[in-house]
Amino acid sequence: MRQSNKGPISLLKEDNSYLHIYFLSSYKYFFMEANNSRRNFISKAAVIAGGQVLLAKPLLSMTPFVSGFNESFTVGQVMDKFISEVPSGILKETVDTLKSGHKEMEVKGIVTSAFATVEVIKKTIEIGANFIIAHEPTFYNHLDDTAWLKNDSVFEYKNDLLQKNNIAVWRNHDYIHRLSPDPVTSSFLEKLNWKQYTTKAIPSLATLPSMHLEQVIAYLKEKIGIQQVRYIGDLQQDCSKLLFMLGAVGSKAHFTGLRQIKPDVLICGEISEWETAEYIRDARSKGDKVSLIVLGHIASEETGSEFMATWLKSKFPSINTTFISSGPSLSFL
Ligand SMILES: [Zn+2]
Repeated sequence: MRQSNKGPISLLKEDNSYLHIYFLSSYKYFFMEANNSRRNFISKAAVIAGGQVLLAKPLLSMTPFVSGFNESFTVGQVMDKFISEVPSGILKETVDTLKSGHKEMEVKGIVTSAFATVEVIKKTIEIGANFIIAHEPTFYNHLDDTAWLKNDSVFEYKNDLLQKNNIAVWRNHDYIHRLSPDPVTSSFLEKLNWKQYTTKAIPSLATLPSMHLEQVIAYLKEKIGIQQVRYIGDLQQDCSKLLFMLGAVGSKAHFTGLRQIKPDVLICGEISEWETAEYIRDARSKGDKVSLIVLGHIASEETGSEFMATWLKSKFPSINTTFISSGPSLSFL
């Protein structure tokens, strides 16, 4: 038997499997049977109160246990739990505020998405959820300032939809990017199977066996599932050092990355055409062998919202959590 302060009491059974018992309160407990493999496959789980089984279900894989299956949580508790895991702690100045709803609302289900678009809000209502965790603004500017949108019909339509259906929206942008490593970038690189080419020191730089720029583009399109990218460069150029600056980090950050790391390719979510694109063009005219690939903002950061859904499922197994892709906003002809 072993017991840690926070963890379960674990009994090693005769057949070499474990019985983990988690106490929810003095009379209510939760048990899981798990075999002795490294993956700790769970064969049975149940919540028991006063000797009665409240909920029992077989699980397919290990769910790190934080909350009970029958517990309910408020919007504020979910937000606080995430923030408690961020090394910087609570930020005094942040865009990560509630754009709709309030912290005391009981969570009926969570949707994670890059953007809380009107379509995402409608799907949230459809599946009976009431809390959207979005990575980006709801009302078309970084601070979600709505003063300038007064009497705007698009703003009013979206805001009414949220208010009438009691939907809370929290932007999780500054906090998620402050986890180390940043899960938005690391989940993207995992999707590419390129995390092995990064280092702890610069997790956004992948140093690969040399590929032509054309091959890099084809690989990205296939792995991320996008139709087109925009690029500057020679398609036959050999590329090895790939610097990923996903989302819209801004031109100054792009230039700093280019100066310090001197990548063969800068891979961005979104750029200002009149700044970063012109800089790359002039750098190439000067003789630098540097290329640019622009993926699109959502395509470059959406894996962060998938990470968020996985995180919520592991910490709050009693809450129904769904990742909904907000899809690209722009089409190409
Ligand atoms: Zn971001």
